[in-house]
Amino acid sequence: MKDLKKIALVAHDAKKSELMEWVRDNIELLKEHQIYATGTTGLKIEKEIGINVIKFKSGPLGGDQQIGSAIVEEKLDVLIFFWDPLSSQPHDPDVKALLRVAALWNAAVACNKTSADFILQSPLMKQSYRRDLKHILQYTKDRTV
Ligand code: PGA
Repeated sequence: MKDLKKIALVAHDAKKSELMEWVRDNIELLKEHQIYATGTTGLKIEKEIGINVIKFKSGPLGGDQQIGSAIVEEKLDVLIFFWDPLSSQPHDPDVKALLRVAALWNAAVACNKTSADFILQSPLMKQSYRRDLKHILQYTKDRTV
């Protein structure tokens, strides 16, 4: 990870206003990085806050899976995912899959405002950082001998 981080922002519908408020409160720090988002979340950030966002498809249309794939390809460093613990989603399996690959690939993940604050304000956000992927290399090695 370079000092410029690639950050994916995702919020379920009931959590979108909370994420918008968090983005507004942290706009100066977020501007130092490259922001990605699922479709509707990204559109709202662009329209309401006016920063450039690279948008994937909407979550229920496969956007969570696209973000998971980008994490696997090491194209994203941080996932800020305000998922809604009080309702089930039509794409619950995709949500679970995204959280699984993010954990597997040792990405920085926040699932609520407090953890998002801790990640964004970490000094590591301004430094290059080597993500530990020894377990991935070991798994791959074990499978190929
Ligand atoms: P959305 O997707 O930003 O397109 O609403 C978020 C999600 O439900 O995963």
